[in-house]
Amino acid sequence: MVLTRKVLLLNASYEPLGLIGIPRAIRLVWKGAAEMIELDGDRVLRSPRFVFPAPSVIRLIVYIDVRGRQSRSPSLRAGVFARDRYRCQYCGGKGTAFELTLDHIMPRSRGGRTAAENLCAACKDCNQRKGNRTPEEARMPLLSNPSALSYGLEKTAVYRAAEGSPDSSRPEWRKYLFLEDAETGAA
Ligand SMILES: [Zn+2]
Repeated sequence: MVLTRKVLLLNASYEPLGLIGIPRAIRLVWKGAAEMIELDGDRVLRSPRFVFPAPSVIRLIVYIDVRGRQSRSPSLRAGVFARDRYRCQYCGGKGTAFELTLDHIMPRSRGGRTAAENLCAACKDCNQRKGNRTPEEARMPLLSNPSALSYGLEKTAVYRAAEGSPDSSRPEWRKYLFLEDAETGAA
């Protein structure tokens, strides 16, 4: 089924942002927000009125600053989102890397650290609602047990997501996902 396959979304800088579904990828391309970079082989999407080549990699036209103000480390941010499976840890809503925010579970203003074990993915609404409170004070329990949040985040989000994806061996993704590895190997 073509429609269930994933598409690798790249920032305008070619930095991988995440995996998205085909329908969302097509919408981005149609809106002019993204361009096709790699096709999914010969696969096509058919409707009664058109045949559209299935995308495998798309790239945003306009660079999106996914780092935000909370974290300057793109890999930490990406890693937390991957760990949380791109779900808001308060309401469970799914989002892409540029829809989600990083929430400090213990607010920064109260000494909470900017580290993986004190960060979680949160949608903008939940982040705003929680504000400067702990999850207990805000009565917004975390979906994941916070103690499960403390493992290391050495690889980027997309690498992990791609590893867990049934599409993990898509050869056309490699040059975007494993840039760092390739560079290290050559050095
Ligand atoms: Zn939420």
